[in-house]
Amino acid sequence: MTVDVVHSIREVRERVAAARASGRSVAFVPTMGALHSGHLSLVERAASLGDLVVVSIFVNPLQFAAGEDLERYPRTLEADVSKLEATADALVFAPSVDEMYPAGPSATRVAAGPVGSRFEGAVRPGHFDGTLTVVAKLFAIVQPDVAVFGQKDAQQAFLVRQMVADLNLPLRIEVAPTVREEGGLALSSRNQYLDAEQTSAALVLSRALEAVADTAAGWRGRAPSEAITAGREVLEAEPRASVDYLDIVDPATFRPVPDEFTGEALAIVAARIGTTRLIDNRTVLFAAPAAC
Ligand code: AMP
Repeated sequence: MTVDVVHSIREVRERVAAARASGRSVAFVPTMGALHSGHLSLVERAASLGDLVVVSIFVNPLQFAAGEDLERYPRTLEADVSKLEATADALVFAPSVDEMYPAGPSATRVAAGPVGSRFEGAVRPGHFDGTLTVVAKLFAIVQPDVAVFGQKDAQQAFLVRQMVADLNLPLRIEVAPTVREEGGLALSSRNQYLDAEQTSAALVLSRALEAVADTAAGWRGRAPSEAITAGREVLEAEPRASVDYLDIVDPATFRPVPDEFTGEALAIVAARIGTTRLIDNRTVLFAAPAAC
């Protein structure tokens, strides 16, 4: 496959304009690089949705709070390009920080709103404003017909969809399923910070979500609060995990569901294993009580 890499906004705009001039549609996958099979599944989805696939690789300083892993976040452009070459024809947009923020951190920001300060946003203040600001910039630079995000970052996908609707941005958002390792651990660029012991401890996230789902699906059907308790018990049994949150939200609002909730909800979890923060989520079904 052919993968070209451009670093400037001017070049990516020229390439997109040339594609458009020949009637080709554009599908976009924003990433921070350190690509793994999860990212590549988004690229494959993008290739099925558009004629030109643009993949951005940019570690966005705006979405890291002070003291987070901005400096040590893996930057592996050459390896990323090789993985893309084995996946699909693509145009990589890999700008420098100066290219994206020539006057320093942008004065204008997208405000993620109330959902942006819950869960991930509560633990990482400013994270979603920084994320949505760079995503809005990238949408304005690439002007895709469709952009593909991962369900792995469910709150991010929710907020991107909300931004696109609220600001009438002229593109479609697709969300692709989470790709996992065999044991259930969701693939993440941050998994490479984990040693072997921590990797096995990290399985507790997907196991806790499984306990939530199993409890919800119990033969009599159980309330969300009981399902959360079952998930917490699994997390508490792993001393190497320090839990930030485990909750069940309504996918339509990203707000915690009441106990009488029925239908498809989303169980979300975040925990630190050592100094590495990991997140995961899973759909959970709360059936309506059967009529007697
Ligand atoms: P990141 O490079 O971590 O910013 O992620 C870029 C995109 O890849 C986001 O839309 C993520 O949700 C998505 N992504 C990350 N991990 C996975 C995974 N395990 N499966 C599917 N998509 C993922």
